[in-house]
Amino acid sequence: KEVHVIMDETAIRRALSRIAHEIIEKNKGIENCILIGIRTRGIYLAQRIAQRIEEIEGTPIICGELDVTAYRDDRLEEQAHVVQDGNLALNQLKSSLGNVSIQDKTIILFDDVLYTGRTIRAAMDALMDCGRPRMIQLAVLADRGHRELPIRPDYIGKNVPTSNQEEIEVALIEFDGKDQVTISQN
Ligand code: 5GP
Ligand code: MG
Repeated sequence: KEVHVIMDETAIRRALSRIAHEIIEKNKGIENCILIGIRTRGIYLAQRIAQRIEEIEGTPIICGELDVTAYRDDRLEEQAHVVQDGNLALNQLKSSLGNVSIQDKTIILFDDVLYTGRTIRAAMDALMDCGRPRMIQLAVLADRGHRELPIRPDYIGKNVPTSNQEEIEVALIEFDGKDQVTISQN
């Protein structure tokens, strides 16, 4: 199996720093903005960006987390469980936001890799069940293409054209002990 490093620790740090600046510029500040990380690694990306934005702007930004598993369109087996898990996911999201409402807020979603877009569609579904955001934006560390839905990211760490046989591996210090993005051929 061939493995290539496409982002090292420095590249990841610079990309996240750039994205923090892009978020501030695009939104003309961060007033009424909320960051939401998608389980698992999106959460750490959102938290890092929140910290960077706070350093730059001098004001804290709310950062929550979302588990979209129950909202995936490929998970229709046990409807009752899906609804129950969906409610659990919404409660977890709300409590991660300290019960601050997403109503009329600009939500910036974070995920590690964007592929078909189905995870993001599921995340938007979950958000809409929580209120009506003014706007939803998307930030990803790596966009590997192959979209199956009309979804595009607003902030991209790195565009990584891939074949369907290739896979991206994202390692983050908080979860994996190191910062590295690699691509491998299956
Ligand atoms: P999508 O829902 O867009 O098809 O896939 C995106 C989700 O699946 C993300 O949450 C991401 O973590 C995961 N994913 C899809 N493709 C890859 C990949 O090549 N590498 C990694 N690490 N995650 C992927
Ligand atoms: Mg994921």
